Amino acid sequence: MNLAPSRRPVSQILDDAVLGRRLSAGDAHTLLLEGDLLELGMAAHAVRSRFNDPAVATYNVDRNINYTNVCVYKCRFCAFYRAPGDPEGYLLPFEEIGRKVEETLALNGTGILLQGGVHPDLPLSYYEDLLRFLRSNYPAIHVHAFSPPEVKFIAKKERMSFHDVIARLKAAGLMSIPGGGAELLSDPIRKDVLAYPKCSAEEWIDIMRQAHRNGLRTSATMMYGMGEPLETRIEHFQRVRDLQDETGGFTAFISWTFQHEHTDMPDVPEIYADEYLRTLAVSRLFFDNIVHFQTSWVTQGKKIGQTALAFGADDMGSIMIEENVVSSAGTAYRMSQDEMEHLITAAGYTPKQRTNLYERIVTRADTAEQARRYRHALTPANRDLVSAGLLPVLG
Ligand code: SF4
Repeated sequence: MNLAPSRRPVSQILDDAVLGRRLSAGDAHTLLLEGDLLELGMAAHAVRSRFNDPAVATYNVDRNINYTNVCVYKCRFCAFYRAPGDPEGYLLPFEEIGRKVEETLALNGTGILLQGGVHPDLPLSYYEDLLRFLRSNYPAIHVHAFSPPEVKFIAKKERMSFHDVIARLKAAGLMSIPGGGAELLSDPIRKDVLAYPKCSAEEWIDIMRQAHRNGLRTSATMMYGMGEPLETRIEHFQRVRDLQDETGGFTAFISWTFQHEHTDMPDVPEIYADEYLRTLAVSRLFFDNIVHFQTSWVTQGKKIGQTALAFGADDMGSIMIEENVVSSAGTAYRMSQDEMEHLITAAGYTPKQRTNLYERIVTRADTAEQARRYRHALTPANRDLVSAGLLPVLG
C-alpha cells in the first residue's frame, strides 16, 4: 500500500474529486498535508451534495446502551472499561436494558446501539438470549449491536468462525453491526495503544466482511489523534474503501478525535477543530463509495457539529439519549430532538429524522403512537428526562 503523498497539485486533486474521479491514497495524504481548509470544505460539500440532498441534513434518535463495562482488554485510550472483578464493573439485567428501550421509544427513538466491554464470561447464548428478548418484546426497535471486538471474542470462546457467529446473532435478531473498535486500522498504532489484542486491522476488516456477507449492514468508524503519523489515517481510509468496493456493506463513515481525560494517554497533544474538519473533508473526498458521513458533535461540540455540515457531512448522527463511553473520557454533550432540529435549521438545512440504516425518513407522527404507548411506563429516571425538557410531552 503506497501511502506517500502523491505530490500532485492540490487544485488538480480537488477538481478530480468534485468531478467524481477516484483519489489515490497519496492524493488524500497530499490533501491532509497541504490542502487549504476552506477549499477542502467547499470541495467536500460539493461531493456531499452529489451523494445527498443538498437542502437536507439528517439525524436519528437512538440510545447507546452499554450492557457491560467489564472488559478483558485495557485499551490505553479507554476510560470506560473496568477489569473483571473490579467492584465498579456491571452487567445490566435484561429488564434494565428493556427499561432503557422503553425510554428510547417514548422519546420517538427508532433504535439502540448495544455494545460492551468485552466480558470474559458471556457465551454466545447470552447474546442470542438478549437479542431474542429485545426482538420479541420491542419489535419496533432497530438493534444495532456488538462491534468487531465482541464478535472476535465470542468466536474465540466458542471456537467458531466470524461468519458463523454473525449468522447465529443475525438469526437471533441482530439487525446491523456498529463500527466500534476500529480506531485506526493500522497495526503499529494498534499495538502501541493496546487495541491490537482485541482485534488487528485485518480482523476488524474481516469481521465486517463476514457481516456484509451475512446480509448485515454496518457502519465504519475512525478515532484518531493518538499521536499517530498521518500515514495511519490514510491506511485506515484505504482499508475501508477497499472493503466497500468488495461488499458495499458500509452505510456511513463516522470519525472523531481521541478524548483524553481519565485515559492512560493524558499527554497526547489535543486535536483541534481545524484538524477535525480537515480530516472529515478529506475523508468525504476520498470515499467515492460511501454515501453518508456523520458529524461527531458528541466529541467536537454542537457548534463544530453544525460547521461539519459544510465540510462533507450530511448527517448529525444521534441525539444520544444516553452515552457512556465518550463521556467517561470527559466529554458530556447532550441534546433533545428539538435542539437537534434547531441546530440543523440554523446551519441552513431542513432537518429530517432518519431510521438507523438511513432507509427512510421518519416523522414525529410516525413515532408518536409508539411514544404514547411507552409513556404510561414512565419510571422515575425518565420522569427526570421530562423535567429536564428532554422528553417531549405528547397529547
Ligand atoms: S475500548 Fe472497548 S475493548 Fe478497549 S478497553 Fe475499552 S471497552 Fe474494552
